[in-house]
Amino acid sequence: MTIGILGGGQLGYMLALAGYPLGLRFRFLDPSPEAPVGRIANRVTAEYSDKAALEKFAGGLELVTYEFENVLVEAAEFLAERVPVYPPTRALEEAQDRRREKKLFQKLGIPVPEFAEVSSAAKLDAAIAALGLPAVLKTCRMGYDGKGQWMLRTREDVEKARKELPGVPLILEQFVAFTREVSLLAARSRSGEIAFYPLVENHHREGILRLSLAPAPNLTNALQQTAEQAGRKVLEALDYVGVLCIEFFEMDGRLLANEMAPRVHNSGHWTIEGAVTSQFENHLRAVLGLPLGSTATVGHSAMLNLIGEVPGTEEVLKVADTHLHLYGKEPRPGRKVGHVTVRAERAEVLQQRLAELPAFFHRPEFCLDKTKMERAAQPA
Ligand code: AMP
Repeated sequence: MTIGILGGGQLGYMLALAGYPLGLRFRFLDPSPEAPVGRIANRVTAEYSDKAALEKFAGGLELVTYEFENVLVEAAEFLAERVPVYPPTRALEEAQDRRREKKLFQKLGIPVPEFAEVSSAAKLDAAIAALGLPAVLKTCRMGYDGKGQWMLRTREDVEKARKELPGVPLILEQFVAFTREVSLLAARSRSGEIAFYPLVENHHREGILRLSLAPAPNLTNALQQTAEQAGRKVLEALDYVGVLCIEFFEMDGRLLANEMAPRVHNSGHWTIEGAVTSQFENHLRAVLGLPLGSTATVGHSAMLNLIGEVPGTEEVLKVADTHLHLYGKEPRPGRKVGHVTVRAERAEVLQQRLAELPAFFHRPEFCLDKTKMERAAQPA
């Protein structure tokens, strides 16, 4: 049985690694001849708009899924006429446009930060007058890892942003003075079965995820329930199949939905060692209509992203229950080249293990300061 995956980055790579024990084979489509999956699976190098390549790619596949959300909707639709495609293309369409995504959340009664549409640079002033500063200006489409975003604190920021504004639809969002950021990883199978992982606490720097603590420290049952209710509404409204991630801002015990990703997510990498079934395996089970695996945690985990550089393998592995994942990508500034998961049965032990990590991880970009390590010691 061969599964087709659109996108050949690290998420696809880890999906394939999770699928091999289940006897699955994989075929990837990615425009880059450097896509990391080339090391481990059959890779077709072609543009997503190349119909002839898509036609050939689809031949003999059981189903197609994707590992990034900016897949051309037309490509997904073209494939869907030939072979089942999961998650459904509607989920792609909703998640590719911040405005649509926010409106969907609102329609489902899920709170979101206040926002205003900015159709052109001239409309920016009206939006600022309505929301006030500070605010965050975001392109509706193609933004990720903090790209396509402007933080507006002062009038000078507004003028600077105005000069840089691309001629595309934008939204202005109220700046949320959040207590923390959390994400929910949810899975829904073709049979309608649903499973949720416990909320994860995420720390970003320059718009890029650096550190995830799982389960989120001091996670209350009420917070988990609120997130799951929101997740269930989205999954059911979209007749979703696969793993979905929703990112929230937590503020005064409330959750405001920031965005969603219709795929496995960086904030779920810890599940490889830190949960009974990883997000990657559960995504495959979901799209194949197999029973979902348990999402229960195995102790406490911290995941650290390796951005642009890698530490020495030996110094990482000498810390007990610490796991290194390298994606086989050429290190370049700002590029996710791997991650490390540190795990422990008890939260206090996780704190100790994080403290034992080499100096490489104690630089500011990892967000692993004393406060975060203390947070890691908090019970879930
Ligand atoms: P996004 O691409 O929307 O996930 O934004 C990347 C990161 O920027 C988020 O994870 C937050 O850390 C920050 N951010 C985005 N929007 C807001 C907002 N409205 N208020 C405060 N911080 C934000």
